[in-house]
Amino acid sequence: MVSVEITPYLDINLDSEMWVCSSCNGDLIDCNSNYKTGCTIAERDPSEIHHSEIDTEYKFSPDPKWCKIIEFYCPHCGIMIENEYLPLGHPITHDIDIDIDQLRTKISEGSIHLRTKP
Ligand SMILES: [Zn+2]
Repeated sequence: MVSVEITPYLDINLDSEMWVCSSCNGDLIDCNSNYKTGCTIAERDPSEIHHSEIDTEYKFSPDPKWCKIIEFYCPHCGIMIENEYLPLGHPITHDIDIDIDQLRTKISEGSIHLRTKP
């Protein structure tokens, strides 16, 4: 399998043109789709993550009435692939859109790092 590292936990498999988890090589979704929709998604209250370091009612946490934390996990091995802070009601962002033909061109020019996995 020849894959291209896109983020530390996210690759594109050039053979199948699928987003894959770089930890377990599990397929997430077609690389023309938003990779986040191929993940297991968890919605977290920011106060669960940002704990107060001192004994007070105040926290350095976004207000859960205004913000949510969305976590994206590999459905095969459970590693966290990405997370994002969003206002309530905001759809999941589409932050990476790869032109696969341009990617193959850059690979043929030798300007892209490839991972080769068994
Ligand atoms: Zn995985």
